[in-house]
Amino acid sequence: MANAERLNRVAEADSTFRRDGTLWVGKCLICNGPIAFDARNGEGATLEHIRARGRGGDSGPENLGIVHGRCNAEKGRRWDPKRRRDDGEYEAFVNRLLDRRRQRWRDPDGAPRR
Ligand SMILES: [Zn+2]
Repeated sequence: MANAERLNRVAEADSTFRRDGTLWVGKCLICNGPIAFDARNGEGATLEHIRARGRGGDSGPENLGIVHGRCNAEKGRRWDPKRRRDDGEYEAFVNRLLDRRRQRWRDPDGAPRR
């Protein structure tokens, strides 16, 4: 699936996001700050695997969040295996993000069609 299409799917399933013309406007899953991306090409946001695939995370919408490129990069640096902190800390961080994702959950089938 193309990156823009996957971003659209996740935005549909995240209640902080709404459509504004060609943009999706919502909140970054990591920093909670405002974020917007172009629905046609995905420009302006990156897709984040909350639990990294290398740590058993899948690519289901519950494990995907829309984040700033800088937040994604920061998370990557912080949890780089070469500089890994203890696993308990990683688990707590991932669980906080998964909780936030669940709190924002919106059933895509129940969302208004455009
Ligand atoms: Zn962010």
